[in-house]
Amino acid sequence: MTSSQDSSLWQHSCQETVATKPLTGVTTADLLVIGGGYTGCSAALKAAELGAEVCLLEAEEFGYGGSGRNVGLANAGLWLPPNEIEARLGTEHASRLSTELAAAPDLVYGLIEKHKISCEATRQGTLHCAHASAGMRDLEERYNQLRANGAPVELLPADEAQKRVGTDQIHGALFDPRAGTIQPLGYAKGLARAAAQTGARLHCSSPVVALSRDGGAWQATTANGGRVSAKKLIVATNAYAGPIKGFANPSVVPVHFFQAATKPLTPAQLEYILPGLEGCWDTGLVMSSWRLDQAGRLVIGAMGALEHFASGIHTNWLNRKTSTLFPALKDPDFEFLWSGRIAMTGEYLPKILEIDEGLACFGYSGRGIGPGTVFGSAMAEALITGNKDVLPIPTSRDHQLPVAGLRSLYYETGATLTHLVKDRI
Ligand SMILES: Cc1cc2nc3c(=O)[nH]c(=O)nc-3n(C[C@H](O)[C@H](O)[C@H](O)COP(=O)(O)OP(=O)(O)OC[C@H]3O[C@@H](n4cnc5c(N)ncnc54)[C@H](O)[C@@H]3O)c2cc1C
Repeated sequence: MTSSQDSSLWQHSCQETVATKPLTGVTTADLLVIGGGYTGCSAALKAAELGAEVCLLEAEEFGYGGSGRNVGLANAGLWLPPNEIEARLGTEHASRLSTELAAAPDLVYGLIEKHKISCEATRQGTLHCAHASAGMRDLEERYNQLRANGAPVELLPADEAQKRVGTDQIHGALFDPRAGTIQPLGYAKGLARAAAQTGARLHCSSPVVALSRDGGAWQATTANGGRVSAKKLIVATNAYAGPIKGFANPSVVPVHFFQAATKPLTPAQLEYILPGLEGCWDTGLVMSSWRLDQAGRLVIGAMGALEHFASGIHTNWLNRKTSTLFPALKDPDFEFLWSGRIAMTGEYLPKILEIDEGLACFGYSGRGIGPGTVFGSAMAEALITGNKDVLPIPTSRDHQLPVAGLRSLYYETGATLTHLVKDRI
């Protein structure tokens, strides 16, 4: 395995490029979007489609944050099951959100097709796998709730699930045919390219360092001295928010997730390991995920950070987990290893904050491909048309998350301890 903590498969295999330059000088726009992940790029694309003058500023490269680092499971809905969404949002808002997010994969795959985004798009469904018999009970409960909401999910018994994944280590699975897998960085860059081709002005390497309201407009300054004056604002910086003078970034709990990718599997291995190309994650408290990429690599990951002294615990666990799931991959030869930060909210639900003539969205809690695309587009439409009814959830005025740092430490300690003691063979 490479010793680099940030050797990402997605950087290696990305086929999309976006030609932009840092912002220099002074410019004006109807809408300023800060952040070039799924949320920001989807917002810029929608606003440009609506004929608005859009300027998007990204601190690094498009897809630098969660959008270029994730597993690439383009799911329908959120991580929370429907009844828990209803308990938190109430029946009306929960039903609206669930309906919009059920259709999120259609939006994502529709954009990929429309803009010919090169991102290894595969729509063969996902398998939420039971890691133990208790996990199967959780899946049965989710199945009942999802079916009651009209979702076309199927509950697979152990033998069928094991055949589809190519392992005897799972106790069943919940199959969702609406979902699929993508090359996540390719999708982020492709959305950025589509926005630019539709007329949005995009600038990479342009971190916003100061924001203020002046003369009825937003005034933004970048680290390299560029300035934008815009009527409306969308902040889409999520778990990767850099400090902006004059703007308090919404508080989220950063949860780390790391992944590794093998060399391409052999044709014989690909005959039985995920032959149907579903993307998978499991019911473990410290969740794991696995899928194939287009080259036939196994991409496997779990909660955990690679940046601390005990990160070897996570990578040792990954070797054990891989060879337990797939004994033919004993001593897996990982070529890539990288990690990212997930923005969790206290309720595991995304939030839209209303700011003066602007909106900030964050906290997809590990489900941002579909939701980021939906929320970004809806926020742009709401601001450009003035119709806030298009937003999928009610907005809030402020968001406090006490002891966010401690909560993050709690998740990381839990993941480290679990990986230290569990799944030993
Ligand atoms: C490891 C991992 C696995 C995941 N797996 C999945 C999955 O399988 N399926 C799924 O649906 N979701 C998954 N997620 C969640 C998903 O990736 C995120 O929810 C989604 O990418 C968030 O998109 P975003 O555009 O809101 O934020 P980001 O993609 O994080 O983009 C924010 C951008 O803002 C920029 N920025 C920050 N500060 C400034 C500033 N001051 N000025 C200008 N720009 C700034 C950053 O550089 C960054 O590019 C995963 C996340 C991670 C980290």
